[in-house]
Amino acid sequence: AEQALIIDGKAAAASLRAEIGLEVAAIKARRGLVPGLHVVLVGDDPASRVYVASKEKLAAEIGMSSVAHRLPAETSEAELLAKLAELNADDSVDGILVQLPLPKHIDTGRVIDAIDPAKDVDGLHPINAGRLAGGKPGLVPCTPLGSMLLVKSVLPSLSGLEAVVVGRSELVGRPVAQLLLQADCTVTIAHSRTRDLAATCRRADILIAAVGRPGLVKGDWIKPGATVIDVGINRLPDGKLTGDVDFAEAVKVAGAITPVPGGVGPMTIACLLRNTLTAFHARRG
Ligand code: NDP
Repeated sequence: AEQALIIDGKAAAASLRAEIGLEVAAIKARRGLVPGLHVVLVGDDPASRVYVASKEKLAAEIGMSSVAHRLPAETSEAELLAKLAELNADDSVDGILVQLPLPKHIDTGRVIDAIDPAKDVDGLHPINAGRLAGGKPGLVPCTPLGSMLLVKSVLPSLSGLEAVVVGRSELVGRPVAQLLLQADCTVTIAHSRTRDLAATCRRADILIAAVGRPGLVKGDWIKPGATVIDVGINRLPDGKLTGDVDFAEAVKVAGAITPVPGGVGPMTIACLLRNTLTAFHARRG
């Protein structure tokens, strides 16, 4: 039987990191400067700790300076804002990322608003979200950026294609829809109130699932030959990770599909490094 091309996000991310590493080395050699990524972690959420450690490790691997600021769970909002003001003012800091979620006593929106938009490598500051919505250059959230690179790795041209995004979060659904629109797709954004999700998905030449519901997207929701990007990361009761798409069914219908794990996930961190370099160039030339 025919089977979809399985998009290797791990390999794509490794080659993207290698490319960024070469650029970092060139900047170091020519100008004696080292792009710097600063990650701020408040509290000791175990998943967040793992994410921060892997961001630190991968940044260091490509020769970036990477600093994790680990603050205690009791850190007040004012203390966190003071930390951000310090990083905003430090010229050697190119990228600032506040690891989410924050403890409940801290207002996440106020914290994101306090990051210098020029250093906002997560692309979540309203200035960057507004730039993206206006089709202007800015820093773009990492998971949407990584998803687009994977789409482009299998489709030479996106112009005129039907794209359906399931999910409308600020972090994934909305920004990836904006990027698809910029690439001249005809974009539909579906969500929990969408009336006939199956029929909507079936129209998609490019289907992006960013929901957080294991196996929501069934094989018969997929147009034969479609490119399917599964952003979902869901932990099953047995501890295994799975996506928002029923992979076993979808792989028989799609033209290309990302696996979970090993699809979008690795691209997200690689794009964080990409954004740090983008921020470096925008600020320091
Ligand atoms: P959110 O919970 O913020 O958003 C989920 C979206 O899915 C909402 O817009 C919601 O609709 C919609 N939705 C929920 N249930 C349904 C349904 N039954 N039918 C249709 N739409 C539905 O999640 P995120 O966008 O932050 O993340 C989505 C997934 O991606 C998660 O699994 C997350 O773990 C994963 N993720 C993966 C990353 C990676 O690096 N690969 C990075 C970030 C996230 P409504 O707005 O109407 O409530």
